[in-house]
Amino acid sequence: MLDIASLTELLAQPKKIVITTHHKPDGDAMGSSLGLYNYLIQQGHHAKVITPTDYPQYLEWLPGNGEVLIYTGNEKEAATLIGNADIIFCLDFNALGRINEMGVLVGESTALKILIDHHLEPQDFDDYRYWNINACATAQLIYSFITEELNNKALINKDVATCLYTGIMTDSASFCLPNTTSAVHRITADLIDAGAVNWHIYDLVYNNSSESRLRFLGVCLSKHLEVLYEYNTAIITANKHDLEKYDILTGETEGIVNYALSISGIRLAAFIVERPDKVKLSLRSKGEFPANDICKKYFSGGGHRNAAGGISTGSLEEVVNQFKLILPEYKKLLTQ
Ligand code: 5GP
Ligand code: MN
Repeated sequence: MLDIASLTELLAQPKKIVITTHHKPDGDAMGSSLGLYNYLIQQGHHAKVITPTDYPQYLEWLPGNGEVLIYTGNEKEAATLIGNADIIFCLDFNALGRINEMGVLVGESTALKILIDHHLEPQDFDDYRYWNINACATAQLIYSFITEELNNKALINKDVATCLYTGIMTDSASFCLPNTTSAVHRITADLIDAGAVNWHIYDLVYNNSSESRLRFLGVCLSKHLEVLYEYNTAIITANKHDLEKYDILTGETEGIVNYALSISGIRLAAFIVERPDKVKLSLRSKGEFPANDICKKYFSGGGHRNAAGGISTGSLEEVVNQFKLILPEYKKLLTQ
């Protein structure tokens, strides 16, 4: 393992740097990656953000977005950049399987791998680790990595601040989750002082729904919401037919699960969506209920205690039934 003094020394000279994050990147994945990117380019590094897949349109306004390389469709260019990199930053994920085929390239690369993340149980593939599961977002860790580890608060400019604010806002569910501590609010205050325009960022991320997305949400809530009061659990499903009919794009299903969790008394919410090649589950929970446990045990996934995801190769109906059959095992935790 590298120490911070050696890393600081390395970063004192321009380096070839790749920054990557998990597939289907969310606000924290893109916010932390582009926040770090906007920091590194001020020091003359040749930095490139490479995402394993595309990401939602509501993140495309982030400063530096135009320089992002999406692996899918640009495999050769991405492989060259990864192969030639001196340093690879792995942000907001901690297992190489989360970056799809890029995992093999990153795993084989001789570059120094720096892991900055807040998910449980990191895999051992890194040379330096800045990891804290209590952080509300990886963007929060990028802020403290820059200001406390690298002692470079002066380089938190408007672009860096805007990206990091976006990561913290989205991963803390707009400052609502229990890990939104007073320290997080102090950091976001610093980010606003550094130029992040909080109300505008909120507007860009959350108030940009298409009409069809809103109508799709209406269908989900009126036709495909099932509340299982016996288990304080609510399920929303989305089938292929509706996704096609309403032309629902990548990321446009984000947040729908929270409507199920907003029902009074509900402790566990599931959004189960029929993707072309698999069924994807998004679970959210309240308090101590371990949503990640269900995802890990039954749906080849994982995540945080209160926000987790997984997949299944079964049909939508089969997965919903499987999910319901799992609930008795957790009845005590869901109802006590
Ligand atoms: P979402 O429901 O938004 O897809 O995911 C919620 C959380 O669970 C995110 O923090 C994400 O990192 C994590 N997550 C989602 N899918 C998976 C998965 O397949 N494996 C693991 N380890 N974590 C996941
Ligand atoms: Mn995150």
